[in-house]
Amino acid sequence: MARATVCLTYDFDAVSVWIHTFGAGDAPTQLSRGVYGAWVGAPRILDLHDKHGIPATWFVPGHTIESFPERVGEVHDRGYDVQCHGWRHVNPSTFDSKEDEKDEYERAMTNIEDITGDAPVGFRSPAWEFSENTLSILDELGFEWDSSAMGNDFHPYYLRKNWSAPQKKPFQIGDKSDVIEIPISWKRADFPALMFVWEQSILWGFADERSVFDLWKAQFDWMYENMEDGIFTLAMHPQVIGQPPRTTRLEELIQHMRTKPDVEFADVSTVAAEVRSGDRAAMPMIG
Ligand SMILES: [Zn+2]
Repeated sequence: MARATVCLTYDFDAVSVWIHTFGAGDAPTQLSRGVYGAWVGAPRILDLHDKHGIPATWFVPGHTIESFPERVGEVHDRGYDVQCHGWRHVNPSTFDSKEDEKDEYERAMTNIEDITGDAPVGFRSPAWEFSENTLSILDELGFEWDSSAMGNDFHPYYLRKNWSAPQKKPFQIGDKSDVIEIPISWKRADFPALMFVWEQSILWGFADERSVFDLWKAQFDWMYENMEDGIFTLAMHPQVIGQPPRTTRLEELIQHMRTKPDVEFADVSTVAAEVRSGDRAAMPMIG
């Protein structure tokens, strides 16, 4: 195993995030921002990864697959890992019932199987949040890993089931599930810093762009120096990172990572399989 592993991941939301998360409805200019992701951003990212021979995991909502089947098919055909990002781009806590939530994920799984030939084994929540039922649904549907949570920064761990968070009693951490978590962070993501969303006063998207990439570089360097077997997971969106000159900045970051000895790039499915097989250690259980 390499000293450091880098997982570049893309949440291919396209128009689903505008319709289902930001309530753009049928506002065509808003929706065109998602179309940009499919038409312009995605091919730039694919070209960058092809150029450097770097794997990637794409989390794709079923809505994107049914709306842009050719582009998602291209992602798979060009050799990249395609995994589940729900069907609609909604917060799992908004489903009326466990059955409704499960039905959407089953539809999304069928979409992915139609593209790749295999049922997905990895999941990233559209809201980077779970409902009280999400983990058990993932377990029932045969998902082996998730990449939505933040209980560690650079090391995998097993998600906990049966946890509880009562207002006036201690937090109960729960029991080990069989679902591996490959953690992410809002600070290793492009959307909060770089995407302006009119309806969301917290998302101004006018960060100093160079500072965002400098932060990612500094986090990677810290992990490389201080962590054993660290996994550096970046979570990006074609409609955000695909805007100029960001793919160039990302390429510079990749080149910087490659100046360090013993750094590997891997898709998340590969890393999660290493954890399941015991080749890569999960974080010890802490009660
Ligand atoms: Zn998303």
